Amino acid sequence: MANIAVIGAGYVGLTVGASLAHLGHDVTIADIDETKVELLKAGKIPLFEIGLSELVADNVRNKNLKFVVGASNASSAAEFHFLCLPTPPNLDGSTDMGYFDSAINEIEKVMKPGSILVNKSTLPVGTAARLQDRINRNDIQVVSNPEFLSEGNALHDFLHPSRIVIGAASAETAARVAELYANIDAPVLITDTASAELIKHTSNAFLAMKLTFVNEIATLCELVGADIIDVAQGIGYDPRIGSSYLKPGPGWGGSCFPKDSASLLQTAQNAGFDFEFLEKAIKLNQEHLKRTAQKVLDVFPSLKEFQDGTIAVWGLTFKAGTDDLRSSPSLVVIEHLLDKGARICAYDPMVHELLPQLDGVTIANDPYAAVEGANALVILTEWEEFSTLNFEKIKKLMKSPTIIDARNILQRSEIEAYGFDYVGMGR
Ligand code: NAD
Repeated sequence: MANIAVIGAGYVGLTVGASLAHLGHDVTIADIDETKVELLKAGKIPLFEIGLSELVADNVRNKNLKFVVGASNASSAAEFHFLCLPTPPNLDGSTDMGYFDSAINEIEKVMKPGSILVNKSTLPVGTAARLQDRINRNDIQVVSNPEFLSEGNALHDFLHPSRIVIGAASAETAARVAELYANIDAPVLITDTASAELIKHTSNAFLAMKLTFVNEIATLCELVGADIIDVAQGIGYDPRIGSSYLKPGPGWGGSCFPKDSASLLQTAQNAGFDFEFLEKAIKLNQEHLKRTAQKVLDVFPSLKEFQDGTIAVWGLTFKAGTDDLRSSPSLVVIEHLLDKGARICAYDPMVHELLPQLDGVTIANDPYAAVEGANALVILTEWEEFSTLNFEKIKKLMKSPTIIDARNILQRSEIEAYGFDYVGMGR
């Protein structure tokens, strides 16, 4: 079993670290944030991911998982250094490599000869090769081993992945990384580093484009009197299309799709390729987010009545099962509504305090409090609890019973039977 340093205790680092420890490796997770490390040492997980706190606790108890402040404190004894660092976008869509550069500066000199640097973060094509040149250490190999986990299902995705992709300059190095996953039953694709990096970006961009396509078809459904639920089911039976990622929504977002598609676009531009198709998909998504906000405006007879009224919002996180708000479509839709002068009261099971980025939005402690006196309710995240509430009570609490269900989680016929006006997506 290997001695592994995981650098970065975020959504990916904690999942990767706890899971590798679960597989029997000796793992040290490092973060730069002292408060976060203190919390982790005290057994508190600073983010929400199902099963993570139990898996961390089990492995801390078994003494094969520990936490330290500072990358070098984890890396000095490690045979593998898993970099799970943020790769946020710059204004032009390119990737901000600042977190990487500073972590590499820190560990560059302390890494043991023969150890392997494993890029888990999503990085632009060419990063592993550049890093290999930059570290100027012939005794260290840089590998790209992108992570495909999806928040809300992260542990399952890591331990039962659809594939493991390892990009390395030599078969021997790739084999050493593959050996870490020996107890996981999944296809292992060994390739060069550039291809591994491109696989990750292409996967996310492809899923984002699939969602854009479904959202466009949903809009067409509304215009021609078709129902996207049936249309999606009908096309999803075709194995060449597949049934996942066929649900329309308010527009895609989250911590990965927007930045990874923008980064892929940048990669194409730098390579002299005009990737119009992807560029258009990104633009169409922005328009779709505006269109979702417009659906809310449209239920009011005039802008004045919209501005005089109150809107209840259910759902702020970018998807259900996470507390992650980064680039959440809910926040974008809310911003469009605020720009038009809306008054908003929002509820999300994972958000309990006012958000600095949503100045003027009141946060309610439960879904009923959010709808009290509201003229319309907008559902923006697909939390399961939203479909099991007492709609008779909700109708009584609201000033006017209108629901805009941007995730299609409610049954139209049931909701209309309670006396609501129901607006779905593509129906
Ligand atoms: P995150 O922001 O949740 O976590 C990053 C962590 O790194 C933070 O805790 C931060 O304090 C720490 N950090 C920053 N600089 C450091 C340093 N010098 N030394 C030690 N720690 C440092 O990010 P994330 O969501 O875990 O994403 C990490 C990477 O994985 C990104 O490239 C992302 O695109 C990719 N990824 C994310 C997901 C996802 O669903 N979140 C899925 C697949 C891939």
